[in-house]
Amino acid sequence: MTSVSVVPLRGVRFRDTELESNPFERPWTLLSLDQMRALATRHPDAVGGNIKMIEERIHPDAFLLVACDNPSAPAYRESYDRAESIIGAICITTLLAPEHREDTRQYSPRPLYWARAIEYCDLPLVFDEQRTRLSGHSSWFMWLSPDNAGIGGKSLEAIGHVEKLAMGGPAIVKRILTGQACLDEADRRLEEGLRALHAGFQAASPGQFIANMVSAAEVVVARPDERWWQRANRLKVLTGPEYWTRIEELLAARHAYVHEARQPSAAFLAHAALGLAVQVWEVMHDLCARARDVSAVLDEIDALARKTSPRGLTTRDLTRAHRRIVEELYTPLPRGPARRLYWLNHALTDVQPNDYYEKFVIFGEMLCPQCKHWLGREVARTSTPETETAECPRCRAVVTATLPFNEHR
Ligand SMILES: [Zn+2]
Repeated sequence: MTSVSVVPLRGVRFRDTELESNPFERPWTLLSLDQMRALATRHPDAVGGNIKMIEERIHPDAFLLVACDNPSAPAYRESYDRAESIIGAICITTLLAPEHREDTRQYSPRPLYWARAIEYCDLPLVFDEQRTRLSGHSSWFMWLSPDNAGIGGKSLEAIGHVEKLAMGGPAIVKRILTGQACLDEADRRLEEGLRALHAGFQAASPGQFIANMVSAAEVVVARPDERWWQRANRLKVLTGPEYWTRIEELLAARHAYVHEARQPSAAFLAHAALGLAVQVWEVMHDLCARARDVSAVLDEIDALARKTSPRGLTTRDLTRAHRRIVEELYTPLPRGPARRLYWLNHALTDVQPNDYYEKFVIFGEMLCPQCKHWLGREVARTSTPETETAECPRCRAVVTATLPFNEHR
């Protein structure tokens, strides 16, 4: 048996049960909990006890196994780095996975990331004469599968789904997963971005998570020796003016945490920060695929920021006419996942999470604000490019919902 490094993961929980006869045909593999247990039974002396300990302490949803050619001390570091790049590539793959109606009730991001014990600090233990009132099984901020089923849903049920998505996904992801070297500076920058995005999950509070994710976005657009606002402008160009209110909120939350150790007013902003990092990464990926020159891509973005400066502006600061000018200006840019993933559009749109269902059409269904009944596709409706209107069959309220985005624009 080859030496193998094992990384516990959290996020998507897979349903695969059969262990392939040789799971190491690639230099890495993903294993579900059941597959890992089967492997541990097969090699009780090698991994049995350790896997049991990891399961009890870290509660992973899956495992990443990476073959390690040279298990000598100097190579440990390399096996760690390699695992981090692989899991970064897998993490962006699951975050960019298409959503389906039956996947989840919440349209949440579905990251797969390295589970570390920081989320499971065992203290404080709070007790009195009668019993233990509170034992800190976890810190108050977690990115954890919310139930036993995990957050994968139907479209991310099996490890084969991830493989298929990765192979049809961004070119750099394929290169990392097949162990090819970076082609150029653009590849190196995007790989750094993936590692920063994935590393950002190691956060003990929403404020820290926001700071990490804003930094992950910054990593892909940064030039040396420049001012913070120049990078912030680029982030705004790459998201578009409809999201500037949220972006300004995120930048303020990042500053409050980094400079004053203050937590954000709403923990939901952590979702928004992840959305920003994913959006910026993919648009940069698509721009670099065209130009293969990071510096030229950043020049192109800066030229747009100079034409009409986004600095300090929220969506609400723009007049209709001004917003149209900016949108027109940005049409040559790739639109990124904000235009196709509901969770991401939701996270970057300036609405409170609970208002979302009342304002938007979700997967073709509309929520009646009066009786909370879901109106399916079968309910007759009239539509404009931006809205759909239908009469609730239960309470007869006329419901108008905004479409989250208009693909024809
Ligand atoms: Zn109704």
